[in-house]
Amino acid sequence: MKRLKLVVTVCALGAAMPVMGQQVPTMGMKPEMTEVWEPEVQVVTPGRLPGEAPSDAILLFDGIDLAEEWTDAKGNAPGWKVEDGVVTVVRGAGEIRTKRKFSDFQLHIEWRSPAEVSGESQGRGNSGVFLQENYEVQILDNYHNRTYRNGQAGSLYKQYPPLVNVCRPPGEWQSYDIIYTAPSFHKDGTFREPPKVTVLHNGVVVQNGVSLRGPTEYIGIPEYTVVPHGPGSIVLQDHGNPVSFRNIWIREL
Ligand code: MG
Repeated sequence: MKRLKLVVTVCALGAAMPVMGQQVPTMGMKPEMTEVWEPEVQVVTPGRLPGEAPSDAILLFDGIDLAEEWTDAKGNAPGWKVEDGVVTVVRGAGEIRTKRKFSDFQLHIEWRSPAEVSGESQGRGNSGVFLQENYEVQILDNYHNRTYRNGQAGSLYKQYPPLVNVCRPPGEWQSYDIIYTAPSFHKDGTFREPPKVTVLHNGVVVQNGVSLRGPTEYIGIPEYTVVPHGPGSIVLQDHGNPVSFRNIWIREL
């Protein structure tokens, strides 16, 4: 029986475009006919250590000056404490948000819940990373601390529990690597394409390209609160617990 192969990239070579799904014989084709050389892929220098920013990243916190890239909710200088290259939530100072706004991105952020354990369930080491101001990746100390599964560390709050719990003990640094695709909207305000999120917690996949139903709500049904939006800030939550952050960088995709 004659063997046939599906060819989908021939159009990039200026050859006759096959109908999608049509089977085209490879007979007579050469390997170089399916090679794409231009434009050359951009060269980026990776970090030498895991978590180190690659050369094309925007550094969102340099360990010294938080006000360079962040404000509080009112647009003023943030009231969180910066010390020894680390920024820590100050209870009551409110959230902080990036001055820059983003659409699709890769975000790296390192966080640490307080070494001194206090509180339980949602009250222990609670903060959060809001993507485009609307969609929270939960930060919580879930090391030997049960809470509702769709509200624990690495969850997309009240929509997707993390696949696994990879929390390190309180007081140890942990990382999130978040890959985010912004939504698009229909004219009636509903999602045409919902936001899509992948999260690695301490290098382990805990969210694999999930599609959000709407903003991550504390109370209520996400679908009912969808409001069309453009690029948005990264927001870090003040939930009253002294959670710390360092080494925050982002790459626009
Ligand atoms: Mg939170």
